[in-house]
Amino acid sequence: MKFRNFKMVGYVVYGRGSFNQLDEILKPHRKEKKPMIFLVDHFFEKKPLAARIPLQGNDKILFVDVYDEPKTKQVDKLAAQLKEEFGSVSGLIGIGGGSAMDLAKAVALMMNNPGSSADYQGWDLVKFPGVYKSGIPTLSGTGAEVSRTTVLTGPTRKLGMNSDFTPFDQIVLDPELTANAPVNQRFFTGMDCYIHCIESLTGTFLNEFSRSYGEKALSLCEEVFLGSGPWTPQHDDKLMMASYAGGMSIAYSQVGIAHAVSYGLGYLLGTKHGVGNCIVFDKLETYYPEGVREFKKMVEKNRIEIPQHITKGLTDAQFDTMIQVALGMKPLWENALGPNWEQIMTREKLRALYEEL
Ligand code: NAD
Ligand code: ZN
Repeated sequence: MKFRNFKMVGYVVYGRGSFNQLDEILKPHRKEKKPMIFLVDHFFEKKPLAARIPLQGNDKILFVDVYDEPKTKQVDKLAAQLKEEFGSVSGLIGIGGGSAMDLAKAVALMMNNPGSSADYQGWDLVKFPGVYKSGIPTLSGTGAEVSRTTVLTGPTRKLGMNSDFTPFDQIVLDPELTANAPVNQRFFTGMDCYIHCIESLTGTFLNEFSRSYGEKALSLCEEVFLGSGPWTPQHDDKLMMASYAGGMSIAYSQVGIAHAVSYGLGYLLGTKHGVGNCIVFDKLETYYPEGVREFKKMVEKNRIEIPQHITKGLTDAQFDTMIQVALGMKPLWENALGPNWEQIMTREKLRALYEEL
């Protein structure tokens, strides 16, 4: 038995207003004449948060379009643009949801690795450490702030750059930054965390390390999405820690069926991670009976509509593409269904599941 020896985030600061410490946090990582680059979710353009970014010298804010989830092409273009303008940079700071944080991780890696980010989609393919990188979430749920991956859509697949060089050097967890997230988005991203917990806690890879984090994250999600009364700042505090703990849980286990199937939707239809997971999880009662029942309660209580019939009218070739992408996520299936997963999740069964979505 070989135990996973995984790299974690270097430094963590948590608390309301901790964003104000960013200047001090970055100071020791600034290299002469090399800027800090802030990749900021375009939602914050002209918003007060943008004015609070501690710019120094030739630092630069790049507002990034996260209308689509990150693509290898977008990462390569950003890295090339920064290399051309500055040679090298002191670091990349990603401010936003999972998309902006993943972009920052990937661009930081591509500042020091040759070729295209598409060459590194997979497990442990990244050759060299990237430049300094920090993640600052403005939405809670993906766990991208703690994970060793950055999920990218490339020319042939949707897959992360999973490596020991991928985790952030620093994360700043300031729940104030999530205060104004739209209700639907907050729910879908929050459910990403909930689904991480269920997939981790019911998976065959589970050990006490992932169970301890997974159970805590799950109970925080339940408090947040099933509790009574209106949304309060304490809900933001809890959901931010749920995201962190959920991410820690899957660090030592894996996600499962909802994620594998959702990757197929994302690749073919551009369905976003959070909503895609919800669309799939909603139909997975056979595999996750208790989790799906509770999920449906959360949907109802928070008055969310899960999109239906999104695969209606797709061609056989399109279904095949999704099946291909989903079945490529071997560790996810193995976690969910055990080593004989290929006998359990046949192409026919998966096709039927896709047709239900
Ligand atoms: P997102 O980053 O894609 O953002 C969703 C929307 O919310 C965007 O329109 C954005 O502008 C907006 N937004 C962000 N913060 C806001 C705020 N405070 N107020 C108002 N609007 C705000 O959403 P997400 O669900 O956080 O991230 C999904 C992405 O994360 C996907 O690309 C997915 O692949 C990735 N992901 C990565 C990991 C990982 O481990 N690296 C894990 C799960 C998901
Ligand atoms: Zn997820």
